[in-house]
Amino acid sequence: MLACLGVSLAFAAPLSTVVEHASAIGRDTAWLQESDGRLDWPAALAAARAGRFVPGTRPVLNFGIGAPPTWIHLAVDNPTASPVRRRLTIETAWLDRIEIYLVQQDRLVSRHRAGDRLPYAQREGASRYFAFDPVFAPGVSEVLIRVETPDPMVVPITLLDEEAAVVRQTRQELSYGVVYGFLFALMAYNAILYLSLRSRRYVLYAVYLAAFVVMNVAYTGHGYALLWPASPHWQQWSNPILIALYGVAGLAFAIRFLDLQVYYPRLRRLVIAFNAAVLVLLGGAVAAGSQEAALLVAFAFAFLFAFIMLALGVMAMRAGQKPARYFLLAAVAAMVGAVLTTLSTWGFIPYNSWTFRAVELGMLVDATLLALALGYQFRVGQDARVRAERLAHLDPLTGADNRRAFYDKTRALWSNAQRHGHDAAVMLLDIDHFKRVNDAHGHAHGDVVLRGIAGALRQSVREGDVVARWGGEEFVVFMPDTSLREALVLAERLREAVGALRVTGGTGGTTTVTVSIGVAQKEIVHPTLDALIAVADECLYQAKAQGRNRVVAWLSGPAGAGA
Ligand code: GH3
Ligand code: MG
Ligand code: MG
Repeated sequence: MLACLGVSLAFAAPLSTVVEHASAIGRDTAWLQESDGRLDWPAALAAARAGRFVPGTRPVLNFGIGAPPTWIHLAVDNPTASPVRRRLTIETAWLDRIEIYLVQQDRLVSRHRAGDRLPYAQREGASRYFAFDPVFAPGVSEVLIRVETPDPMVVPITLLDEEAAVVRQTRQELSYGVVYGFLFALMAYNAILYLSLRSRRYVLYAVYLAAFVVMNVAYTGHGYALLWPASPHWQQWSNPILIALYGVAGLAFAIRFLDLQVYYPRLRRLVIAFNAAVLVLLGGAVAAGSQEAALLVAFAFAFLFAFIMLALGVMAMRAGQKPARYFLLAAVAAMVGAVLTTLSTWGFIPYNSWTFRAVELGMLVDATLLALALGYQFRVGQDARVRAERLAHLDPLTGADNRRAFYDKTRALWSNAQRHGHDAAVMLLDIDHFKRVNDAHGHAHGDVVLRGIAGALRQSVREGDVVARWGGEEFVVFMPDTSLREALVLAERLREAVGALRVTGGTGGTTTVTVSIGVAQKEIVHPTLDALIAVADECLYQAKAQGRNRVVAWLSGPAGAGA
């Protein structure tokens, strides 16, 4: 009874050649795994007829990694009066040995052999998948497919007329073109960024993307079809090795991008040790010639890799790294994609073009977010640099330019004035009896007074003048295109502005201070700005000596003016 049921299920609905079968036909097949020894096709056919085959329940048959050799049976009905040719495709690139037997009325009509152990040139159909073009005579034919592989035994079978097959293939190749094109563009761009910015994270990012593309190219069969058609040996090992290298490249990028050597040096060593362990295990599997072990190492690593990336992103965020947010989002996208693909290939969730290609979609999102993260990281670094630069040029107490900024700003002005014989003048200001202010009201109040004076000076100089804190309670002003007369006018104005300043908050109500000012105009005898400042300093000394709160200028010797 049970046997009859099996037979009736396996043969219930032969696939009609006049009906279009748009998706994989696993539900219209039945399968049997070899348990004691190899079956030949008549034995397999007999077993199918005896109802020992299990009906397929999903569009894509999937037996996981390391499954025993498996026979698949399907029946095809050609209701027309003439033979028809159909394209039978097994849309997986990595299966090792495939045999196909076309049987009509118990007679073997044709047999086909395929699998990626054959050199690519010996394939029947030029496809990165396994494609055959059997001819179905009128009536019901039976197809027996035997698959043997240590790889994930995923068997998506399609049966299409030639035109539909070409359309389907073209569509797939186009979508791969988009994926690879996008990733290649990002790769090239980041390689260029590396050449100009010399930061290794860009090159590691490009290598990570390249590792993904190479891995993808290998397991989609593009590699065997286009890059290494004469190397069936490499074809056998390419998948586990390239999957592992992809993971290693990803972690190398993460280590660098997240600055683990700064934030978590011990974790970094751990990740490196983990990578090394994976490579050693993989090397061992390759040395032992066990493809199955190599695949298990690679798939387990692919799985862990996704979680490690996620954990690293979370930790970096915790450590307060702003770009880590993008990294985390990217890792989530890549992980969802990778996990879906791994699970579908391993046979835990239904295998279809969305689940199988989820890793590519995830990778597109991942690559985009990481590119944004790199850009964001660059901006953060740039901002920090600009801020540091600005701080290095500012006097922290008064907010005025410091001596370094003064020289930076006057260098060009001075050489310009020298070259064209233009006027230029400089003045030095020193607060009178400032020590007394400190002594009477405390140093903190002295600071407030200094700040007030710096503000008053900034407001009183003209546009184009360069004012800076020269040190202690001294300020300097450089005046380009300014004659001595104009400089004296300005100096007088500054002296009055400071004198008019009322600073409250001291112990004695309001504080007032005065300044003494030395002014010097550029002449041929002043080869450098420092020489000119030295002259102004001498005038300042004279101003102090003459009683303070006054301006003294150099008129072929210091001469008083004002007060
Ligand atoms: P004069 O220049 O008129 O000869 O007298 P002075 O008292 O101003 O000159 P002196 O060079 O003797 O003293 C300068 C004082 O300026 C001493 C120092 O404590 C004070 N000073 C220098 N820098 C700062 C500062 O950043 N904050 C405060 N509060 N005081 C400062
Ligand atoms: Mg002073
Ligand atoms: Mg002084």
